[in-house]
Formats: sequence, C-alpha cells, structure tokens
Amino acid sequence: MNDITSPQGFPRSYRIKSFGCQMNVYDGERMGEMLGAQGMAPAAEGEDADLVVLNTCHIREKAAEKVYSDIGRLRREDGTSPLIAVAGCVAQAEGEEIMSRSPGVSMVVGPQAYHRLPGMIEKATRGERVTDTDMPTEAKFGALPARRKTAPSAFLTVQEGCDKFCTYCVVPYTRGAEISRPYADLIDEAQRLVDGGAREITLLGQNVNAWTGEDAKGRAIGLDGLIRELAALPDLKRIRYTTSHPNDVTDGLIAAHGEVEKLMPYLHLPVQSGSSSILSAMNRSHTAESYIRVIERFREARPDIAISGDFIVGFPGETDTDFEDTLRMVETIRYAAAFSFKYSPRPGTPAATMEDQIAKEVMDERLQRLQAAITRDSYAFNTASVGKICEVLVERKGRKPGQWIGKTPWLQSAWFTGDAQLGDLITVELVEAGPNSLEARVL
Ligand code: SAM
Ligand code: SF4
Repeated sequence: MNDITSPQGFPRSYRIKSFGCQMNVYDGERMGEMLGAQGMAPAAEGEDADLVVLNTCHIREKAAEKVYSDIGRLRREDGTSPLIAVAGCVAQAEGEEIMSRSPGVSMVVGPQAYHRLPGMIEKATRGERVTDTDMPTEAKFGALPARRKTAPSAFLTVQEGCDKFCTYCVVPYTRGAEISRPYADLIDEAQRLVDGGAREITLLGQNVNAWTGEDAKGRAIGLDGLIRELAALPDLKRIRYTTSHPNDVTDGLIAAHGEVEKLMPYLHLPVQSGSSSILSAMNRSHTAESYIRVIERFREARPDIAISGDFIVGFPGETDTDFEDTLRMVETIRYAAAFSFKYSPRPGTPAATMEDQIAKEVMDERLQRLQAAITRDSYAFNTASVGKICEVLVERKGRKPGQWIGKTPWLQSAWFTGDAQLGDLITVELVEAGPNSLEARVL
C-alpha cells in the first residue's frame, strides 16, 4: 500500500465516479468536498488517482453489474491498484458480497454512511477492508463540511428515501425511509451555494415533493413553502426540483408555478405506464387519468410549462393493449423530454417474481417505438420554441472560440456566441432548433 499513500498514510489524490441519478451526483460532490477537507486533491484529467470512489447505481441490472467491470479496469499496468471504495446503492444492496467478489475493494459504504469515509480510508490505508451500510440519516449532513465554490447550477438534496414501494423498484431498500432535511439547514446550504457562485438550485429528492418541514416561525410547510422562501434569496435566480411523485402533488405546488417567478417552467413527473391496470400492478397508487388531470392543472397554472417523465416498458403482464395505452399517454401529454427504460427485475422486489415476465425482443421493440414517439415530441417542443425570447443561464464554454452553452427556462440546452461569463443570465432569441439543443442569438 505504501506506493499509493502519502507520507502521512493518507491518499493524496482522489477521483469520484458517480453513476445514475442526480442524487448520486450530489452525494459525489459532497464526498469530494469531504475528501478535500482532509487535504486530498482531485486527480487531474488522465492522471492516476490514489483513491477511486465508485458511486454506484442499483436501479437496473446493467447499472449494477457495471460496477464489477469498472473495478477490474482500475488495475494498473504494473499490477498495482488505487485504494478502491464502492459507494452508493450497489454498496447498500450488496455490501459484503462486493468484498468477496472483488478482493481489490477496500471500502464499501452505503449512501447514508459516506460521511464516515475519512475514518474508513484511514483503516484502509492500514490494510483493513471496511464495510459500512448503516442508515444513520440525520448524522450524515451535519457531519459534512460546509459547501464552498459551486457551478452556476447546483444540486441540493432536500429529501431522501422512499416509502412508496413501487413493485419494481429497489430505492426503498437502498435509500431507506422518506426523510426531509430540516428547513434551517436547507436555507443555510442554499445561501452557501449562492455565495459560492450558484445562480440556479435544483432541489433533489427521490420524492422531492413529499418534503415537509417547519419554517422559521414554526409553521408547517411543504415543498412550495420552501421554494417560496428560497426565492427570497437575492442572488438566487432560478429554482427547480426533481423527482416528484404524482400522489404528492399539492395545490400549493401547482399554484407556485403560476406565482413564483424564479420557479422554472419545468416539471419532471414520472408516470411509468399509460395503462391503469399496469400502474396498479406497479403499486403506483395513481391512474393514467389522475396523472393526466394533474398535468392539466400544472398547465392551467403555467401554460408554457415543459413536462418531462419516466416510462418503463415490459413490466410483467404488459399486453400490447397496455403498451398502446402508454403510446397514447405520450400523444396526450406531448412531453418536452422523457426517459424510458426496459423493465429490469431487481432482486427482492415483488415484481421480480411476478408471472408473465416479458420477452426481451418484445421489450426492445416497445422501447424503440416509445423512444421514437418521445424524440418526435421533444424535437417538436424545441421547434416550437424558435422565436421565443428568454434568458439562458451560462453553464460552460462551447468548443468554438466565443461560444457558450447554457439552459433555457425549459431546461433546453442552448448555445450562442458572444460576450459572457459563467453564471450570467443572457437574454437571447432562440433562432434554430435541433433534436437536443437550440441555437440562440444574443439580444
Ligand atoms: N422516485 C421517482 C419516481 O417515483 O418515479 C424516480 C426514481 S427512480 C431512481 C428513476 C426511474 O428509474 C423511475 O422513474 C423508473 O422509470 C426507473 N426504474 C426504477 N426501477 C426500475 C426497474 N426495475 N426497471 C426499469 N426501470 C426502473
Ligand atoms: Fe422507486 Fe416508486 Fe419510490 Fe420512485 S416512488 S423511488 S419509483 S419506489
């Protein structure tokens, strides 16, 4: 181990690779800040790191299996390896199994225990192999160092875990029960993000709209109340939130979209299927009709709102008619964007042992048809945006000199050429649409 550690016995450089959802991206950032506070530096692009953290995703089989090949690839040509930590939901779900399958792994740490990573690294540098998959939720955020410099668009986890138990999903098992972070901590973290350069904050949670808390006066508030309070931070220009559950949508949240200017006109509301009988088998506790009605109400409050969603094709028992219902849902909603996945049986979930598992070829064909419909609609959404005048939040440089890339209020990627700086809000006209981005002209 001596070849990879500093004279103090601690690794000098680290690399964190986050897979899966935005909550993992957030966790990865917080781990990086924590390692930074321990005196470690991120490894430069293309350079070997002394410590590699694989922050994993367990949502589908492919994502979970990828971890093992990634671990194998970390072995260097000379036969040595960096210190390897497996974090995230695969760590939580598979724990000790990772240790026995992968002798090169020194640390396995679940998503609720990563604040303990420095202590684990210390043990690992002494040659110990350590697993920590406890779920002491409250302790984690309090134990992390304060936020510092951030990108113009930052994530802020406000809610974790899930009590919904959709029959296909591992999240309630890997992320634990629903908890809301306290209001005061969130206002404090948001202020620090803004002080560090964030102009946009996306509030994160597995069921972000289930967030509840008490404001500074002790009044019970929901996510809409939190959004209204955050909107009062002067240098915060944009607020977003993801992912919402249709059953946790409140009148207040819908109203906020019509009333809070800083709340962006974008809603990610997964539906999973357009068939109410499949939704029932999924234990989604909403129907296709109730979902459509909720979307209509958001559109009444904010007519230009962009709608996005998630779909699963090939859930056990899904018939051709059920799948046609899903295509009809897409026709009805006209999504600006949507993610679609083939059903992946996850160990320990009720759907994994249901009868009528769907053949791979049927899933492939359905996924292709669904994605074609979604792509058609998102291109149409972009095309309909041409001629609009809006602000773009500048997030990065483009490849060509003077080119900048940012986001429209509707979360479309837009590029323009002109004078700008990261974090600027530039008023533009959208002049040309592509399937994945728009060209803009500075006004
Ligand atoms: N909490 C959110 C919700 O209620 O939809 C999303 C959580 S999950 C991390 C993100 C998406 O992964 C889900 O919306 C679903 O479409 C997909 N997903 C979850 N489990 C899956 C499975 N077993 N197979 C395929 N896709 C799955
Ligand atoms: Fe998974 Fe359903 Fe919870 Fe979303 S609501 S995290 S899909 S169990």
